[in-house]
Amino acid sequence: MTTTTENEPADIAYPSLPQPDVTVVIIGAGFAGMGAGQRLLKRGIGDFLILEKADGVGGTWRHNTYPGIEVDIPSVAYSYAEAPNPDWSHTFAAGAELLSYAEECAVKFKLTNKFRFGTEVVSAEFDKVTDLWTVSARDADGDFTLTTRFLISCHGALSTPAEPGIPGLDRFAGTVILSQRWDHSYSLDGRRAAVIGTGATGIQIVPAIADTVDHLAVFQRTPSYVGPKVNIRIPGLIKILLKRVPFLQAIIRMIGVTAIDIAQTFGVIRHRQFPFITTMAGRVIRASMKARVRDPELRAKLIPTYGFACKRPLSSPDYLETFNRSDVELVTDSIAEVVAEGIRTSDGRIRELDVIVLATGFKVFDLPYKVVGIDDVELSEYWRTERMRAYQGASVPGFPNLFLAPGPYGVIGFNWFDTIRLTTGLAVDVVCETILRSATRADVRTSAFEEFAHAATRAADSTVFKSPGCNGSHTYYLDQHGDTPFLRPFSISRSTRMSRQARSAYDYTRRHPDFATRIDV
Ligand code: NAP
Repeated sequence: MTTTTENEPADIAYPSLPQPDVTVVIIGAGFAGMGAGQRLLKRGIGDFLILEKADGVGGTWRHNTYPGIEVDIPSVAYSYAEAPNPDWSHTFAAGAELLSYAEECAVKFKLTNKFRFGTEVVSAEFDKVTDLWTVSARDADGDFTLTTRFLISCHGALSTPAEPGIPGLDRFAGTVILSQRWDHSYSLDGRRAAVIGTGATGIQIVPAIADTVDHLAVFQRTPSYVGPKVNIRIPGLIKILLKRVPFLQAIIRMIGVTAIDIAQTFGVIRHRQFPFITTMAGRVIRASMKARVRDPELRAKLIPTYGFACKRPLSSPDYLETFNRSDVELVTDSIAEVVAEGIRTSDGRIRELDVIVLATGFKVFDLPYKVVGIDDVELSEYWRTERMRAYQGASVPGFPNLFLAPGPYGVIGFNWFDTIRLTTGLAVDVVCETILRSATRADVRTSAFEEFAHAATRAADSTVFKSPGCNGSHTYYLDQHGDTPFLRPFSISRSTRMSRQARSAYDYTRRHPDFATRIDV
């Protein structure tokens, strides 16, 4: 049924609307962007482009090439369900292997002619008269614009390096290396090095460079829980078995994903109901950390006093042991400033350095391009004033035909591939629905958006992050308002159920030059 919403004349000959240059633009050729592309092709939509700033696919695994990089959840679970890889060399694959996997998937998903590499998106602006997005971008040939009906933003939830705000960094006479943009032309051999940051990145870099540098100072602001990690080489026979019996790999993947889901549902999301889980897990990890560090003073500095799971729990086979070396120093005095010759800490001591590695993390959900919706509302500004929210982690009212994959409340805990499945799945569902209804605009209803945001913030109150045990943890799961937009606070199965009918929460309208037609089915 078609209903008019704005005085539609009965017998008008509709002048045709301008058509977009391309039906769908996907921003980012990481796993999310490729997942979106694969889903569009599966649903018969081939008219799309994937714009990517880098010169190839892989997203985070192309940018992050620091020493020691490897995935921190089992590779069998960190992969597309549709593209199982029987060839993982280890239970936790190295970064370069993840990049090769991404490149193979680009071919397998038949996406190779969809990419525009070396293309940096600068802004995207919605035109409410034509219901088109104008994407402004630049490539080697200069600036250009492109119109599209739908925009799927897959730029990554953690892609913009955070500014650590350390005074004097620009005065340093040595070399500063950013973990996210590792400079492989710089040799660390025999250098006096510092690593600032002891999150997932820092704990991989530290043991990987300790042998190469002359002396290593690790600057820790907040200690991390670091459990053991057993990274086993997968025997050839197992690989053959996985290749011959793909079903077996599907089962192993399902077990891995389910285990992660159970752990995060009961340990993180429903902490208020099951607080003993994190208490017990914390005790076990603390005991294992104690056993791995010889010096009691060092142990006391390395072992957190805040609760377990307030920050992403980490694992490493050798990070803690690295501090048993005499040439590796743990510095817990706060950094006062960087001076030309090194770092001065609050106790006045200067450590002389040749190189400073910044493993200081990312800006959460930072949009590296300007997104302007209806009535000139800018998305980052909207989030700043209205708090970070998105319906099903994907849509914001007033930003029609735009999907974030993922946006706030879209990340399902530790499982990136379920995050991608749900957010890009919803995006493609709504794109198809819009086309099927011959509509030009899909905008999530404010009531559905508010309802989801309310459910998410209410559920977030039970998460471990809101517990007093997380005070002092400096967790990036909490933003400046005390909200937890970096987590979709529902289990994978609940999130899957919630997103199944989510496309019905959108208003689908057809735009004509002078009025809009709402299309109900
Ligand atoms: P992160 O967890 O945010 O850690 C940043 C570290 O830098 C923290 O220890 C932080 O201290 C410290 N820091 C920041 N600014 C500082 C300053 N001004 N002075 C001193 N210390 C400062 O970032 P990350 O390690 O890059 O990891 C981010 C996320 O990326 C992970 O949680 C994970 O999701 C993902 N990741 C995954 C993998 C993998 O799968 N292999 C590897 C790396 C990263 P505070 O704790 O006090 O803030």
